[in-house]
Amino acid sequence: MFDNLSDKLDKAFHILKGHGKITDVNVADTLKEVRRALLDADVNFKIAKDFTTRVRDKAIGENVLTTLQPGQLMVKIVKDELTELMGGDAAGINLSGTPTVILMSGLQGSGKTTFSGKLANYLKTKKNKKPLLVACDIYRPAAINQLHVVGGQIGVEVYSEEGNRNPVEIAQNAIKHAKANGFNVVIVDTAGRLAVDEEMMNEIANVHKAIEPQETLFVVDAMTGQDAVNTAKAFNDRLDFDGVILTKLDGDTRGGAAITIKSVVNKPIKFVGTGEKMEAIDVFYPARMAERILG
Ligand code: GDP
Repeated sequence: MFDNLSDKLDKAFHILKGHGKITDVNVADTLKEVRRALLDADVNFKIAKDFTTRVRDKAIGENVLTTLQPGQLMVKIVKDELTELMGGDAAGINLSGTPTVILMSGLQGSGKTTFSGKLANYLKTKKNKKPLLVACDIYRPAAINQLHVVGGQIGVEVYSEEGNRNPVEIAQNAIKHAKANGFNVVIVDTAGRLAVDEEMMNEIANVHKAIEPQETLFVVDAMTGQDAVNTAKAFNDRLDFDGVILTKLDGDTRGGAAITIKSVVNKPIKFVGTGEKMEAIDVFYPARMAERILG
């Protein structure tokens, strides 16, 4: 994961680690390399620039040049700043409400249906919950079937209504069904489109308003880089969602979305998807991710 970025940052710190006597020129060169590594990883220019400015100020504040191991101290400063940039502490998921209602949003192909299954499986096996999955994609019968297949794999019931063209009604009926049958989490999978469009946004905004979810999660494909960040912004402007799910982190992503999404929408990444299997879900810990990136 993020091998390219890790390699580049490692090279950047090489400048400091190898030298007996460190000068402010070495530090400036290192920061320039760090900035370049971030830009190459598809981090937006302003965020990368602000990042290195903060690192430089901290390095000056902590007198990096006079310490015994300036290289190590610089790595630590960068790691701390990277952790902050990605959200600081792990965010957790709000499981209040009887039942807890979780609304999934995102573009088609982002991994919404797969993640709905993963989350249901996680809540069932790790949190001892009884989840219900709800198919609210009224346009694609294949999407409804896919959710039924996923539900079958993990032993979780799937609620769908054949022929009903009203996602608000389906979601409301599903919640009634959950209450009547002892389900304590309802995960509503919605229809996505290939790009942000008004109709999709209106539809999900209507569902959101009608069911008042405890958690509205926005699912996005990490491989889409800066597009992921722009899509997040569009959904957040409309839904004011609670958290981000970054999928396909197992792929060849450069890492820009993971690093910048929090600072653009000011919402935490809550989980990441790391594969197609139902078990390929991880809680997102910013510090662990920073550790992974910096090695
Ligand atoms: P949806 O249209 O948003 O519901 O997206 P899907 O859940 O159907 O996912 C689209 C494709 O991405 C499917 O082929 C999934 O198997 C795949 N996918 C989903 N999550 C991940 C992930 O974390 N890693 C990888 N490698 N593939 C994933």
